[in-house]
Amino acid sequence: MSEEFLKKLSDRQNRILRAKADFPIFHKKKEKRPLIYLDNAATTQKPRQVIESLVSFYEQHNSNVHRGIYRLSEEATSLYEGARRSVAHFIGASSPQSIVFTRGTTESINMIARSWLQPKLNRGDHILVTEMEHHSNLIPWQLVAQETGAQLSYLSITSQGILELENLEALLTPDTKILAVSAVSNVLGTINPLEHLIKTAHSHNIPVLVDGAQAVARQIIDVAALDCDFFVFSAHKMYGPTGIGVLYCKPEHQQDIQPFMGGGGMIEQVQEQNASWTEYPWKLEAGTPAIAQAVGLSAAIDYLQGVGLETIGRHEKELTDYALQKLTQWPGVSVHGPVNLTQKAGVISFQVDNTHPHDVAQILDEDGIAVRAGHHCAQILMSRLGVPATVRLSFSLYNDQAEIDQFAESLLKVQQMFG
Ligand code: PMP
Repeated sequence: MSEEFLKKLSDRQNRILRAKADFPIFHKKKEKRPLIYLDNAATTQKPRQVIESLVSFYEQHNSNVHRGIYRLSEEATSLYEGARRSVAHFIGASSPQSIVFTRGTTESINMIARSWLQPKLNRGDHILVTEMEHHSNLIPWQLVAQETGAQLSYLSITSQGILELENLEALLTPDTKILAVSAVSNVLGTINPLEHLIKTAHSHNIPVLVDGAQAVARQIIDVAALDCDFFVFSAHKMYGPTGIGVLYCKPEHQQDIQPFMGGGGMIEQVQEQNASWTEYPWKLEAGTPAIAQAVGLSAAIDYLQGVGLETIGRHEKELTDYALQKLTQWPGVSVHGPVNLTQKAGVISFQVDNTHPHDVAQILDEDGIAVRAGHHCAQILMSRLGVPATVRLSFSLYNDQAEIDQFAESLLKVQQMFG
């Protein structure tokens, strides 16, 4: 790409085009063909800046945190706590102390289910979820419901994959103890109306947990403005490392969360038979935390903000629009979920007549195109859609229209093969 060519492009196009160069996985030597990675809802690729932050931590600052009284440990602690500040700022939390580092979205939801909700649950209580939730936002609630005699109730979706909001009020009963909902569906790309859901639940004094796993890398999140009670996400879906995620919790609930795990780093005083805990959030971070990963998450936030979340969101919408124009008019292909871009993020699920999604994914893989096929950890949604599995495309800042054209060529081949 010549400098002259880049100068002619808009600022936004320019930033997006340059971004792909930051991802070493797309520049591997000795590859037969370039990788077309369309499985970003599963995990995103990592830019050099994030990879270098991990290497630099291990080469320059590696030590345990909160323990040593020596310089290196102070450096590591300062980087780790700096990452907490950076996360708080990124999602609009008023204080870094509202941020607990976990292993990911799944652990964050389990923590709230076990350590906050379960002690409050009684037989006959309800946990309200939606038909489009990822298993991470279903199974933790099922586990605590089974132990307490509570039940899950489901806010339904339309055949277009949109929440049926007219059914919401009836589900917000005095027995409903929490509403747990995703910001963006990992299968349909549906963007849920969080403000409305949270306001309505709060008008019945029902707290809300938002699963932000698919939202944080594509839209600006402001937990204070949203007024959600809990917000959870994973670093690996926003260009950061695996092994670290976030639990944001409103200050008013923090003291109610009992430690999920015991161990070093979370105590104040230990006696033979019992112990007292240190302050929130550290009382929830037993054991040596994912220090390098926290540093990597902070680098991912810097990276995302450097390119600009609005720029990324807009780019992904353009790609979604381009792909939808092809797929919605394609004979023998049916698209699930909304096609209206105001309600859809960069995730598209579809079916090819007479062809199993796994076969589609396998043939695309032969052309170097990585897509996901399966139930996407959303079996309740699959049965609502009446299919066992779908093929899923999910976009990111480094994808482009030429890749979608190549995907379309490959899809044509699939149809030719399966008649
Ligand atoms: N919720 C949603 C909406 C997701 O897409 C995912 C990951 N596919 C999860 C939760 C679980 O995230 P993790 O595996 O990182 O805990």
